[in-house]
Amino acid sequence: AMTTAGGRLVRYDASLERQLTQQATLAADLRRAMAAGEFQMRYQPIVELPHGRMVAVEALIRWVRPDGQVVSPEHFIPVAEDTGLIVELGEWIIDTVCAQTADWRSRPGAEVLRSVAVNVSARQLLDPGLPQVVADALARYDIPADQLTIEITETAVFGGGRALATVNALAQLGVSISLDDFGTGHSSLGLLRTCPVHAIKIDKSFVDGLGGTPQQEAIVTALVGIADTMGLRTVAEGVETADQAHRLFELGYHHAQGFHFARPLPASAITAMLQGDHQA
Ligand code: C2E
Ligand code: CA
Ligand code: CA
Ligand code: CA
Repeated sequence: AMTTAGGRLVRYDASLERQLTQQATLAADLRRAMAAGEFQMRYQPIVELPHGRMVAVEALIRWVRPDGQVVSPEHFIPVAEDTGLIVELGEWIIDTVCAQTADWRSRPGAEVLRSVAVNVSARQLLDPGLPQVVADALARYDIPADQLTIEITETAVFGGGRALATVNALAQLGVSISLDDFGTGHSSLGLLRTCPVHAIKIDKSFVDGLGGTPQQEAIVTALVGIADTMGLRTVAEGVETADQAHRLFELGYHHAQGFHFARPLPASAITAMLQGDHQA
């Protein structure tokens, strides 16, 4: 169907309109959820291979609705990005994660936790205020900068500009920069030259390819080779089986993360793990 908008003829797309309405509803709901304190952080262990001892955690957000329903970040992070709400939400995430890190650091057994990683999306990197937000949170909770890792995706910094300037400013603070979903973007290798990166996270899709064709394994092998040569740490993501963990270790991966080792957990579960390690 056709309809006129300001004298122009535009195609009327009912599905697009429905989508926009849904997005507006979700955006309003996100604002309300933020005020109501419905967001929570989960923490997934990053372990050392081959033994699987926790050395770090990645913070992952959850939206827990009043009825107990948990909404995946895959659903609301894109809307939070489109509406700019991610800036405010991102500040809450950084504050919450730093407060939690300070709590862990104050406990016996905390030495095993070398770093806590937090995800920062494309839109957050366009906010020139982000490095100051991070610096303030580190100071507020008295956390050494090198204990915080910022996970960015290659698509977020592709094209350089403001996002790359933000990453440089973050690196300048002394926080570690980790390139997430590595190998899935357009410019993975190029970015290693232009962007200050300390670690790469090999995407789950490559881990899933282990045991497949020789070509699939060749990519996983090549990626760790490049990382080693450049002095970058490597984390293999989405490890779900003992076979994958074993193979990754054989191929030279030092760190892994995935359901085989642990799911994203409430902070209290990580605290208990630190306590257990201490007693062991
Ligand atoms: P990501 O940063 O790539 O996070 C990894 C995702 O894989 C997480 O999903 C995690 O729960 C999941 N995962 C971990 N191990 C396994 C495994 O063995 N198998 C499978 N199938 N999945 C595994 P989650 O928590 O739903 O997060 C999805 C995405 O949402 C994240 O992808 C990230 O892009 C975004 N996100 C999550 N938390 C935050 C946050 O605090 N801030 C921002 N900006 N984005 C976030
Ligand atoms: Ca991540
Ligand atoms: Ca990832
Ligand atoms: Ca991802």
